[in-house]
Amino acid sequence: MIIVMKKEANAADIAMVVARVEKLGYQAHLSTGEERTIIGLIGGQRPVDKTQFEVLEPVEKAMPVMHPYKLASRDMHPNGTMVALNGFKLGGEKIGIIAGPCAVESRSQFLETAYAVKEAGATALRGGIFKPRSSPYSFQGLGEEGLELISEAYELTGLPVVTEALSPEQVPLVARHAAMIQVGARNMQNFALLQAVGQSGQPVLLKRGMMATIEEWLMAAEYILANGNPHVVLCERGIRTFERATRNSTDISSIPVIKQASHLPIILDPSHSTGRHNYVAAVARAGIAAGADGLIIEVHPRPEEALSDGAQSLKPEKFARLVEETRAIAAAIGRSL
Ligand code: PEP
Ligand code: MN
Repeated sequence: MIIVMKKEANAADIAMVVARVEKLGYQAHLSTGEERTIIGLIGGQRPVDKTQFEVLEPVEKAMPVMHPYKLASRDMHPNGTMVALNGFKLGGEKIGIIAGPCAVESRSQFLETAYAVKEAGATALRGGIFKPRSSPYSFQGLGEEGLELISEAYELTGLPVVTEALSPEQVPLVARHAAMIQVGARNMQNFALLQAVGQSGQPVLLKRGMMATIEEWLMAAEYILANGNPHVVLCERGIRTFERATRNSTDISSIPVIKQASHLPIILDPSHSTGRHNYVAAVARAGIAAGADGLIIEVHPRPEEALSDGAQSLKPEKFARLVEETRAIAAAIGRSL
């Protein structure tokens, strides 16, 4: 952190700030200019809150020069990390494709979709059983009875399953049946949930909050990492803007921003990003071209009958075509599927 003193600050003011810096376990490095003095903080272990200094009368402003996140920062692992889902490593050279219905509606619907996406080349299966719906009158998911279906789909297809936990209490239950726990956009800053998935040690798919900045998103990841769980994958799922032509605005640029700022793998969800099945493939291709490590895509055998997110769900044939297009884009940037 750098502390800029006011022009009128005198030697006693500077000494007072230096004493505070040293009390926090840092050394103070003074840079005395013509007009004002700047104090740099050196060493020290704990992060410092800049407001501790900004409240002092002779201080003009304090500016952090480090990221507020540490464990999520690329400095920790300059070459990037990989998160294993069974044999598949997200964040490696190969692009991961997670696909399946928004919600598990029945045994037959889930298994039919699971076999179809596997056939098309998916590396993992998705299916919500605890659904975070905006309306309390919408289908809320099968709940606990869906857990057995998740285990069964895995046993039958060999595809690891990603499903969402809505509360800390659901985490151990979900962790027992699913390979990866999703923290949804609406829960990105549910800190009790982040702690619980951190303590579970299970791979976590952390979706970006619809109104979260990239820094807030990385701070949410930091909660999981700081609770001892290094298996975190980020998922861009679009943010809310003034634009209404799509359900959300796909922030494609968050992919290279995250790649530079963090070592964590990042995947794109073109389904929730766009909200419309006819835009999904184009945005998916863009995400892979921008450097995403994978995609998560909603697929339903009969989207018109879907109990949630039918408008953005792809039929299996369309999904199969998307996988082939993704393969071509991946090859063009030196990756594979
Ligand atoms: C979902 O994956 O079905 C979902 C609800 O996603 P999000 O949290 O991104 O809205
Ligand atoms: Mn959905």
